[in-house]
Amino acid sequence: MKECCICGKKFGMMSPGVALGPYASLDGLLICADCQSKLQEIRHNRDVEGNAAYFHGFFPAIQNEAIKTYITKVISAPSEANAAKQQRQTEADERRECLKNMLTTSGFNYEGWRITEYLGFISSEVAVGMGFFKAIAASFSDVFGIESEALGDKLLNSKQAAFDRLLGQAYDKGANAIIGIDLDYTMFGDTLVGVIASGTAVKIEKQSF
Ligand SMILES: [Zn+2]
Repeated sequence: MKECCICGKKFGMMSPGVALGPYASLDGLLICADCQSKLQEIRHNRDVEGNAAYFHGFFPAIQNEAIKTYITKVISAPSEANAAKQQRQTEADERRECLKNMLTTSGFNYEGWRITEYLGFISSEVAVGMGFFKAIAASFSDVFGIESEALGDKLLNSKQAAFDRLLGQAYDKGANAIIGIDLDYTMFGDTLVGVIASGTAVKIEKQSF
């Protein structure tokens, strides 16, 4: 009769074993329902420590290294996933903070600051569909009506989106400021409006007097 390759429990008619893992090195290795559910708990990040202790208790008796390697991998996955998640969160927080503090101007310098590095021209585009734009163009009075308000909102949103992307690009270049910012609109046909934000990414530092 076959038995669980981890805890050694014998399989019965009602409780056949299930495959240990998806790797070729584990082919033919079966585990019992108890061990399976404990592995599942670890995979779902539940009582990882307690379940790890359960498996480690059987380690001295397990001869097949592939089994121990696989279980160790399953056990370490949740903490690795957590660490990676934490890392991503920290990076996102840092980025948000930097973007919030990034100095931007349509001019070419900042009073009291000195540009230490030019990191290049950056530009971003956001295209917005203007389904009703044609209709507005056809009826001049609408330009001052409700539809022009909706159009204004849409353009404002895309302007903000283009600007946010520009900040992101500056951040990726290691800049802490953007100078010479310019916003432009382009029509693509008569249903798409492109908002283009551009500028020069720079590194600046406070001047000491
Ligand atoms: Zn078992």
